[in-house]
Amino acid sequence: MSKEIKAQVVILGSGPAGYSAAFRAADLGLETVIIEKYSTLGGVCLNVGCIPSKALLHVSKVIEEAKALSEHGVLFGEPSTDIDKIRIWKDKVVTQLTGGLQGMAKMRKVTVVNGFGKFTGANTIEVQGDDENTTITFDNAIIAAGSRPIKLPFVPHDDPRVWDSTDALELRSVPKRLLVLGGGIIGLEMGTVYKSLGSEVDVVEFADQLVPAADIDIVQVYTKKVKSKFNIMLSTKVTGVEAKEDALYVSFEGKNAPSEAKPYDAVLVAVGRVPNGLSLDAEKAGITVTERGFIEVDKQLRTNVPHIHAIGDVVGQPMLAHKGTHEGHVAAEVIAGKKHYFDPKTIPSVAYTEPEMGWVGLTEKEAKEQGINYEKSVFPWAASGRAIASDCTAGMTKLIFDKDTHRVIGGAVVGTNGGELLGEIGLAIEMGCDAEDMALTIHAHPTLNESVGLAAEIYEGSITDLP
Ligand code: FAD
Repeated sequence: MSKEIKAQVVILGSGPAGYSAAFRAADLGLETVIIEKYSTLGGVCLNVGCIPSKALLHVSKVIEEAKALSEHGVLFGEPSTDIDKIRIWKDKVVTQLTGGLQGMAKMRKVTVVNGFGKFTGANTIEVQGDDENTTITFDNAIIAAGSRPIKLPFVPHDDPRVWDSTDALELRSVPKRLLVLGGGIIGLEMGTVYKSLGSEVDVVEFADQLVPAADIDIVQVYTKKVKSKFNIMLSTKVTGVEAKEDALYVSFEGKNAPSEAKPYDAVLVAVGRVPNGLSLDAEKAGITVTERGFIEVDKQLRTNVPHIHAIGDVVGQPMLAHKGTHEGHVAAEVIAGKKHYFDPKTIPSVAYTEPEMGWVGLTEKEAKEQGINYEKSVFPWAASGRAIASDCTAGMTKLIFDKDTHRVIGGAVVGTNGGELLGEIGLAIEMGCDAEDMALTIHAHPTLNESVGLAAEIYEGSITDLP
């Protein structure tokens, strides 16, 4: 069976980038079609990324807080977990959100076509569905095809004990011994969950620090806090994974490598993601795709074919949902005739670990690379009344200022719920605030957010001694 439809805008992929573009396009009065190969909308983020991971991290946090409270006289007993119920709850969170998207698409009269879409020309896409194929003729297209986990050549990925993030989020079992291969955000978030559920967790990272994109001072606070929980092997690489009946035997090389192959019940490979640009027959529409699968765009998110845009993970770093959402809005608005650009000063990044690590604007590393004359100011959470009262003093708030103008150009936070503090810093950077603006802004006491104002006050010299 085959059918034909026409659209003013067709969007290939329904992740945060794709659905944001679709909803904005529909709101601006454009006839909009969205193509998705899976039966639910929401892409990686809602189905197998941001949302299920945060649902499991919430469970992990409650478990750890319950344990910690026993030291302060509140005894719940040793937490026991029922992973079937945790999985059902996590799935319910996902279904609530993906179902909500379906409703929003319907309300806006966005047509959803399920199946795998490929370009057949500069104005046509063919979608192969389970029951029928659909040919879509479009005036404009937005590619939002996202990304997928990287596979490693020396790892037997077809062994069910070798996981990617999607497998880890399925929560089918809790392995006794888990190796997290890759000390980036996704690996550490999943390691946090499985540690709380009872796994012994090793983390191996090729670089000499966890979360290599973040500044070392932030990461050091995190590493110090978690080193009793995880066995962390920095400056070390995995050279082989041998699947035997009793376990996966992993060989390592490097500074902290075990001398012999070490057995694990599961290995989570979390070494990054690759864009899906090479599977779309984009060349049939004349679109240039890089060897690695990225699609290059200008500030209006146009590809080299002006009526075809691309957004989200498929256009490059940072591969984050909120970046894709904003790009989606801009692409839809440009198609609707508005003169908009995607040119943000800041895109925040957060590792939702415990403690959280987050940064926005320039990191110190980037400021140094760009030769910026900068100064930093740090407020340690050990001096925060709220952190002391909440038993979360392992943290700090850092602001980075341009030394010449005193304008804030970056900020980073490590600490419980630290990611929530980035909003104020991001806004301050976008608005061109200087240290005085931030120091004179009255923050509620006692909040963790107060640490942002206090870091600015320290920089201004209005606080010389910390309590
Ligand atoms: P995707 O979400 O990848 O969506 C692309 C969609 O396109 C998919 O549904 C795919 O099925 C569909 N598709 C692709 N090709 C075709 C085709 N040819 N035909 C039909 N359909 C197609 N980001 C954050 O900001 N915060 C977080 O906390 C966070 N946590 C994460 C946790 C995990 C475990 C993972 C894996 C990722 C996480 N991310 C997080 C990253 C975030 O999920 C991605 O940046 C985001 O989903 C990218 O959105 P996107 O719309 O570009 O693509």
